[in-house]
Amino acid sequence: MVKKEIKKESKSQTKKDFTNHIFAYSLENALEHPIAAPNIILPKLFQHGLEKEQIKDILPKINEIVNLVNKMPKDQVKKEFEKYSEYVKDRVYFSPALKELPNVSKNMVFRLAPFPSGALHLGNTKTYLLNALYAEKYNAKVLLVMDDTVGSEEKKIMPEAYKLIQEAFQWLKVKYKKPIIYKSDRLEIYYKYAEDLIKKNKAYVCSCKQEEIKENRVAQRECSCRQFPVSEQLLRWKKMFKSKQGEYVLRIKTSMQDPNPAFRDRVLFRISERYHPKVGNKYKVWPMLEFSWAIDDHLLGVTHIIRGKELMIEGDMENYIWDIFGWKRPNLIHCGLIKLEGIGGKLSKSKAQREVLSGDYSGWDDPRTWSVQSLRRRGILQESIREFVEKIGLNQNEITVPVDDLYSINRKKLDSEAKRYFFVQDPVSIEITNAPQIKRVQTKYHPEKPKTKDLLVGKEIFVSLKDFNKFKGKQIRLMYLYNIKLDKQSEFTFEENKPEIPKIHWVSKGLKTKVMMPEGTYVFGLSEENISKLKIGEIIQFERFGFCRLDNFDKKKKEYEFWFTHN
Ligand SMILES: [Zn+2]
Repeated sequence: MVKKEIKKESKSQTKKDFTNHIFAYSLENALEHPIAAPNIILPKLFQHGLEKEQIKDILPKINEIVNLVNKMPKDQVKKEFEKYSEYVKDRVYFSPALKELPNVSKNMVFRLAPFPSGALHLGNTKTYLLNALYAEKYNAKVLLVMDDTVGSEEKKIMPEAYKLIQEAFQWLKVKYKKPIIYKSDRLEIYYKYAEDLIKKNKAYVCSCKQEEIKENRVAQRECSCRQFPVSEQLLRWKKMFKSKQGEYVLRIKTSMQDPNPAFRDRVLFRISERYHPKVGNKYKVWPMLEFSWAIDDHLLGVTHIIRGKELMIEGDMENYIWDIFGWKRPNLIHCGLIKLEGIGGKLSKSKAQREVLSGDYSGWDDPRTWSVQSLRRRGILQESIREFVEKIGLNQNEITVPVDDLYSINRKKLDSEAKRYFFVQDPVSIEITNAPQIKRVQTKYHPEKPKTKDLLVGKEIFVSLKDFNKFKGKQIRLMYLYNIKLDKQSEFTFEENKPEIPKIHWVSKGLKTKVMMPEGTYVFGLSEENISKLKIGEIIQFERFGFCRLDNFDKKKKEYEFWFTHN
């Protein structure tokens, strides 16, 4: 309501209106400080094109808005800022969604811990980015720790994943401290601490079969392996290194009455004879995730860990181990699961891995992987992914997030710049009788920009099959050209542009074009000739079709390949 009143007043002004920008900066300022200050706002407006001679007129308006904002309760300021945040330029990633973490200090350390089984997809990127965004907020250190313990048959390490992950972080502008840390380089460290645990009589080597372990857990019964003295446990631990897969595991001593059966004498190490892409068959005793993290988070000085709620029990185990060693507990912050809606199923790295290996997906940037690489190729901007994650923030409960939210963030960023072109899917050729002799029409690249282009008009015109079927026999307007009664043999009617006549796009001297869709299939058609001036990587809008990124030009086939961004 407030906004409307002020807008009315400013209508008489012919120059650019800065009302929204003033609101945005005032709200932002009020969020970061006890109250907003007018002198902060003015310099910001120059970034948006404010001219010096406007200062006199704009100052009263700034004062008025700042006063209004300062009267708002804080939660209203937060809400309002969400509406106006797009008017803030080069926003430092400060958002109401990024609420304060516990135990903030000057020396915070975060870590990114991807398991290298494939490219990062939108789902796991959320967790990593959230850590990175918080690190930016607190000016903290970030470590990249490749969580490459041995994996399993279902969750294989993919050698190329190491690179794909680094590439994704680089593109997302996630900064981390070099060198990268590899868990697979740290096995000797884990062994040392395992031995310490045994010496403290807190861990034991168990030779029971998996079934027995399960039964004992349910019955809350300790197995006989647990009873051996420390000296014997140490011998058994040595023996474990010369044994076969499945013969021994190292287990921690908890209470067999722990309310969570999975926690009861949990396994810390197991034998795996899998080949490891980085260290080969050098090791066969491998730690479980929670043990390696309990050690590393302490040794690397990690202070804050943001991760999914699916790792709650691992978190409990880490706390348990930190307490045994008497180490300070880092802050574990568990987020609710994110269900992405509109992506055609569930995101899964293991599924993507299977499809990439089988050749069903074209590679790790196949759009169906929803990998960072695939999103980049489609024309989703890294800033948009960051903003999307920032908006989700630290969710406590499981939430469903439509992927359209990401698209709408991205669309806002593309819309003001992307050039407009015509693309006709499944072209149908029509001829027009009695048409005026027009060789070319002039249109604009962008409705709000002066630069113009020509569309050539030949004898033959193509419209899309969809439009043809929909409007056959009816009067339509060929956008920017004239009106016809649509058919294979169309009839020119008149030139005047009337709002009630549906407008469709068309191509005359078209260029062969295919567009990769998010479902992993191509659609084919013709584009206007002006696309020949585009550079690979440019993101444009095909009118009435959607935003697309030019991916490739096949010289042999003379065919342009685009990737569909969103509509
Ligand atoms: Zn046992």
